[in-house]
Amino acid sequence: MDIFYPKVCPICQEPLGRDRNGECYTVCVDCREGLVDITDMHCLKCGKELLTEGEYCHDCQTRNHIYTQGVAVFRYTQGMKQSIYRYKYKNKREYAAFYGKEMYRVSKDLLRLWNIDAIVPVPLHESKQRMRGYNQAELMARELSAYTGIPMVSNMLLRARKTTPMKELDDKQRVKNLKNAFIIGQNIVNYRKVLLVDDIYTTGATMDACAKCLKAHGVSDVYFVCLCIGQGF
Ligand SMILES: [Zn+2]
Ligand SMILES: [Zn+2]
Repeated sequence: MDIFYPKVCPICQEPLGRDRNGECYTVCVDCREGLVDITDMHCLKCGKELLTEGEYCHDCQTRNHIYTQGVAVFRYTQGMKQSIYRYKYKNKREYAAFYGKEMYRVSKDLLRLWNIDAIVPVPLHESKQRMRGYNQAELMARELSAYTGIPMVSNMLLRARKTTPMKELDDKQRVKNLKNAFIIGQNIVNYRKVLLVDDIYTTGATMDACAKCLKAHGVSDVYFVCLCIGQGF
């Protein structure tokens, strides 16, 4: 199939080459170099890059999050922004192979440390998922689950109602928009530590809303891994 539909780079969309073992690359070397990895100098709560030395970003110093801790893979640069756009809205679901692999690279040691019982994608509303054909967070979560052997439980959380796209809202509106937006989709008594997976972390409102719902049903700690994150200060 690859001959007719060569795999393309999730950043520049050019066909991908193969390594010495004949394995197809998940991204081209130059494009990978153009992406900005989140370094160790990041907020110990939300994972945002810090511009100055310190443990927590301004946001995490001034507000309490309901989730326990999270990490992100890449800075939200133009290249990633456009890549995620195609991934979500142009049916480029195969990009999940690259995204999931990078999530694994960044989170594998932490997942062991955190003792994660289940990987849970941030859900879309049923009608949105039907229209799109897939949940972008779930495809990445599935990759991460395959790498780690930690089960993915995609129906643990459901979106109870339609919400306004978060990018159209400010801080306060985001929290209000997500009030009671998530419900538990299945019996979760066996899960203590849960990892949420999503594409972009902005204010943390989505993670907190999911964490609130999970913790109300007996989950003790909610962690997350996001593909991209904005810069903190
Ligand atoms: Zn490329
Ligand atoms: Zn932070």
